[in-house]
Amino acid sequence: MNIILLGPPGAGKGTQARLLTDQRGMVQLSTGDMLRAAQSSGTEMGKRVADVMARGDLVTDEIVIGLIREQLEQGTGSGFIFDGFPRTLAQADALGDLLAQMGQDLHAVIEMQVDDDVLVSRITARSTCGSCGEVYNDLTKPIPADGKCSNCGGTEFKRRADDTEEALRTRLMAYYKQTSPLIGYYHAKGLLKGVDGLGEIDQVARDIAVLLD
Ligand code: AMP
Repeated sequence: MNIILLGPPGAGKGTQARLLTDQRGMVQLSTGDMLRAAQSSGTEMGKRVADVMARGDLVTDEIVIGLIREQLEQGTGSGFIFDGFPRTLAQADALGDLLAQMGQDLHAVIEMQVDDDVLVSRITARSTCGSCGEVYNDLTKPIPADGKCSNCGGTEFKRRADDTEEALRTRLMAYYKQTSPLIGYYHAKGLLKGVDGLGEIDQVARDIAVLLD
């Protein structure tokens, strides 16, 4: 089964993708993670996208489609979770073409619905484990008192350079201008399903499971 998690920054796409990976053995494809990895390893492409990402703008379709193509060529397992991709109509068309070339379908697009008001507080409170990427939030899921990641025991936690109020405003605008048209696009294809992204993490996971099963 191949699915897209769609929603603004801070909607919980990454958190839910990780749960689906653990529970169903699906493969999470996060273009944001791939771009951050390219930056950390200092590749030419990583250097080129650094400023754009720090501002909160979208990197070019060509770059992210190339990243997804490379991953899809490596095989499927029990399906892909596209997290943060596609973000434009051109990316959505390209994904449809890539899956068709592989003889695969897209089974569902899950729109994670949240209020803008909560996004600022969610994002500015967010940190991740430097070793395994487990996501924490100062308000809703704090780093354990012993300072160790509950998933891997790691002790280094990072905040993202673009998790600031200013970059978030740009990221939200990019979402509304460039990504939200995908809601209509996938609705027209009969693939769109909505979940309330404001609930507790486990509740949202249960709601997604009901939609998928
Ligand atoms: P994310 O981790 O999904 O919030 O992505 C972080 C940043 O990476 C975004 O603000 C964009 O600058 C860039 N990015 C990630 N995915 C895409 C995409 N599909 N298209 C364009 N830019 C992207």
